[in-house]
Amino acid sequence: MPKIVIIGAGIVGCSLADELTERGYHEVVVIEKGKLWKPGGSTSHAPGVVFQTNGSRTMAQFARQTVEKLYNIRPDSDRDETCFLKVGSMEIATTPERLADLHRRAGLALTAGINARVITPNEALKLHPLLVRDKLLGALYVPDDGIARAIRAGEVMGERSTSRGARFISECEVLAIDQSDGRVTGVQTTQGSFPADIVVSCAGIWGPKIGAMVGMAKAIQPLAHQLCYTAPMTELASYKGEAELPVLRHQGSDLYFRQRGQSLAIGWYGHRPLPVRAEDIVPNELAEVMPSQMAFTPKEWKGAMEHATEVIPSLKSSEIVESMNGLFSFTVDNFPLMGEWSGLKGFWVAEAVWITHAGGVGRAMAEWIVNGHPTLAVHECDVNRFETHQLGSLHIEERGAQNYVEVYDLLHPLQPMESPRPIRTTGYYPRQQELGAFFLEASGYERAQWYESNAGLVARYQSPQRDDWSSKFWSPIIGAEACAVREGVGLFDITTLKRIEVTGNGALEFLERLTTGNLKKKPGSITYCLMLNERAGIMSDITVMRRGERDFFVGVNSNIDINYLKQMAPDTVHVKDITAGTVGLGLFGPKSRELAQSLTRDDLSNEALGYFKLRSTYLGHVPVTLCRLSYVGELGYEIYSTADLALKLWDTLWQAGKKFGLIAAGRGAFNSMRLEKGYRSYGTDMTSEHNPHEAGLSFAVRKGGGYKGAEAFNKLNPNGLTRRLVCLVLEDPHHVVLGKEPVLHNGNVVGYVTSAYFGHTLGKQLAYAWVSAELSTQGTRLSIRYFDRDYPATVGQDPQYDPQMTRLRS
Ligand SMILES: Cc1cc2nc3c(=O)[nH]c(=O)nc-3n(C[C@H](O)[C@H](O)[C@H](O)COP(=O)(O)OP(=O)(O)OC[C@H]3O[C@@H](n4cnc5c(N)ncnc54)[C@H](O)[C@@H]3O)c2cc1C
Repeated sequence: MPKIVIIGAGIVGCSLADELTERGYHEVVVIEKGKLWKPGGSTSHAPGVVFQTNGSRTMAQFARQTVEKLYNIRPDSDRDETCFLKVGSMEIATTPERLADLHRRAGLALTAGINARVITPNEALKLHPLLVRDKLLGALYVPDDGIARAIRAGEVMGERSTSRGARFISECEVLAIDQSDGRVTGVQTTQGSFPADIVVSCAGIWGPKIGAMVGMAKAIQPLAHQLCYTAPMTELASYKGEAELPVLRHQGSDLYFRQRGQSLAIGWYGHRPLPVRAEDIVPNELAEVMPSQMAFTPKEWKGAMEHATEVIPSLKSSEIVESMNGLFSFTVDNFPLMGEWSGLKGFWVAEAVWITHAGGVGRAMAEWIVNGHPTLAVHECDVNRFETHQLGSLHIEERGAQNYVEVYDLLHPLQPMESPRPIRTTGYYPRQQELGAFFLEASGYERAQWYESNAGLVARYQSPQRDDWSSKFWSPIIGAEACAVREGVGLFDITTLKRIEVTGNGALEFLERLTTGNLKKKPGSITYCLMLNERAGIMSDITVMRRGERDFFVGVNSNIDINYLKQMAPDTVHVKDITAGTVGLGLFGPKSRELAQSLTRDDLSNEALGYFKLRSTYLGHVPVTLCRLSYVGELGYEIYSTADLALKLWDTLWQAGKKFGLIAAGRGAFNSMRLEKGYRSYGTDMTSEHNPHEAGLSFAVRKGGGYKGAEAFNKLNPNGLTRRLVCLVLEDPHHVVLGKEPVLHNGNVVGYVTSAYFGHTLGKQLAYAWVSAELSTQGTRLSIRYFDRDYPATVGQDPQYDPQMTRLRS
């Protein structure tokens, strides 16, 4: 049994100790520099409001699990004491835009199994009599939300863990982390050293400081956040308990409220960001109240009460008696940091976690440590997900601050960060700018969504009108580009997709062990395959291109994949990320072969370079790897070269392409076309929660065994599935959905949309969705809830476009 040291006894550390000891891992030592059970971190002063609804399914599930867990922790069942006050929550709307968005958020809640509904102003007033009717247009009501009694929960989980064998060491500071041969071996503290096979940093705002002990840059920015409590209010005089009124969010004014007996807590995100360096947080012994609580700065509070009294007028006569600038962590992408850091074996992290998610995060971390992978998909939170540029201190501070400002903003799912931009540009950027590219952002890269230079095509290829929301970050040019590529040929910048080289002695055996593909094919062949976990959950889908006996070029999805492969590779196998040093172009469309052939003397006929084959050649002067595959379902090539040759490659193809009507096409067209062809996108359409049968990807799994996950996969019954990924076709092509909406049958939620785009070639609105297996047969009529409307949709053929693959193979 491994010896585990957890740093920090905030809600996250306590929750993890509880979950580990529950699973029989009782050699757990929790080291806490503060005094138990109120040690002075963020948990020790936070008001504990819990709103479960989240744009991420995983985060919403973490929140659900937290509520379930804390609600059921009954420290004193005689007094019916609980660690969660289920008083419900309301997010209120005072503008039509916000009201509309509440319907969208209700949909997000429903897909995660959270009971939620939009209520009228009168219903809202009944639930919270302090609200004023004036500006109220409605509210999102979630009856199971409420208030976590986080300090008490930490104590109870701590005592429970102790009773199972864990030790909690109070007032003991971790000063250093011991390591040997790339593994942690223990920690040095103010009370001596503690040996450990696993160290988990649950240090909250001190996370960057602990990271620095092992040379790890953490994308965490501690920021001060203002919170005040009123004196007892006469309007609350009749309340005797800790809290009965629902917690409130008024996102339009960056405010939230909770009851504390006869007073109200008011939290305010409307002030300028107040970043603090982890190293500058005062030590426990010097802190006036506690280290995570800084002196209140009245000038930042300006405006808070004016906005607050607009919705709760009785606050006008209230007096603020307690106020603070409390510290907690923001990250560059708003997700927590979880998992084992690839830089040091045995060093794990669970940080930048709200109380709201702490129960779920604790569970997922324990499952990860004990079983090898959590039940829920955690790729969004994986500590190894970051691009290098995201780990610079300037970037962390700027993004952390911006995410603080935007915490309650109404953000469109496609909305890119506005600053700092641009960070990364591909070698084609100047040409794309000349063509009027509209850029969104991917992995820090500027990525063209469409090109204004194609505006002239819109008259020929028309798209249905869209509503205000779905037409954000959209243009009818997208549809025109998609149609033009299907008829002719288009150039797509695919540089942002990740690429690695896997080379050396044993490279084939290594890849065969970790992927489901049959890779024992001649050099020059390409294989689409999956990486599975022990439970046969899909960890990634990858394309393995065999360039030589021991030389593989692999298209992967993320830094998580790259780190994983690096970790697993034997000494003789070299895994190298070549994304930044190379560029990729997709040359797709029925005229792509003719165009490429006009630039090389090598034979590119179907016989010489068939589907899923690759070769090295020159296009004009440019050395390239030409791969006969396309993610958009057309004849075509992925073309790779080194970054220094980017412009020459673009110009060579552009020049030669004039004769063939070549256009540049953006990611919007790419996405529409890939959905028509039914190509899944990892992280969106399928995750580690799904197995290959459910996702319709069992064709990518080789027969027999010898790969990770084989045992579990071979035990699966493809005829006994409980859910499936299906292609829904909306009955009215003018009904646009965007993804993440609930799918309903007879008024009940039976699934959720993953990706949705208009299929411009087919003239149909498509939505891939997870639904229960009994509703997955073609022809089943379902509906998709978009804001407050239900759109009828039917389970259709998968894929809708060219199921015989004639276009790709021709
Ligand atoms: C004003 C305010 C309001 C908030 N409101 C809410 C809310 O309503 N709902 C919500 O969900 N979240 C809220 N949050 C966020 C939430 O409080 C935090 O995200 C959460 O408490 C973090 O828990 P934690 O266990 O990760 O960190 P912490 O509670 O900070 O615990 C980390 C622990 O690690 C210990 N530690 C650090 N370094 C060392 C070391 N070297 N050696 C030993 N021990 C160490 C610290 O002493 C500390 O006790 C709020 C935060 C603030 C500041």
